[in-house]
Amino acid sequence: MIRIAIDGPGGAGKSSVAKAVAARLGIVYVDTGALYRTIGYYVKEAGVDPHDAEAVSACLPDINIEVRYENGVQSVYLNGKNPGEAIRTPEMSMYASAVSAIGSVRAFLLETQKDIARKNSVIMDGRDIGTVILPDADVKIFMTASPECRAQRRYDELSAKGMTVKYEDVLAEMNERDKNDSTRDIAPTAAAEDAVVFDNSGMTLEESVDAVVELINKKVGC
Ligand code: C5P
Repeated sequence: MIRIAIDGPGGAGKSSVAKAVAARLGIVYVDTGALYRTIGYYVKEAGVDPHDAEAVSACLPDINIEVRYENGVQSVYLNGKNPGEAIRTPEMSMYASAVSAIGSVRAFLLETQKDIARKNSVIMDGRDIGTVILPDADVKIFMTASPECRAQRRYDELSAKGMTVKYEDVLAEMNERDKNDSTRDIAPTAAAEDAVVFDNSGMTLEESVDAVVELINKKVGC
């Protein structure tokens, strides 16, 4: 069993790199952001203010989250239904960021994340994987890049999905989300003390994947 934690701000390429590394090593990729996005989606559909901790907490007993792997691809089911790409919009990024600052939401998702890592060799990406979810991970990487570079990647990703967005809006949204995520009281985005900080500004996906695989090899020799 191997457990790899990848944390860092949005747009650093964590999910694309982790997915590719998982495929190379034959282990499970866990996208923890999708869990927070799914809670955000429920809250939005319920017409609840995502900043209202009490109202969001009151939703939790009505939420059932299940992570399934279908042909190696992670899907998060919300009360038996898969919301699919609906959780990937910029609006849902902001909802996810708001609900993820609420302690009861983080506690609600804790066991789901730990449980997957107990049963599988994983590469898990998020904001608090090396610090909270997998403090004993075999390899911890804090992946980052310049805000402009991350915003450009996120812009390209959303455009490729057919969403009409402006680069300036993506950059502003990213900066706001970074600020929320790194200054919140509970589990802020942070590099674990024993994490390797990896800045991949200007690197292609392939170069980042190679660099991460090399880092893992050095640490655990697989
Ligand atoms: O990684 P992604 O951009 O999909 O995450 C959406 C939001 O979920 C983040 O902005 C962050 O607020 C929250 N999140 C978190 N902890 C994680 C993963 C995501 O707080 N482990």
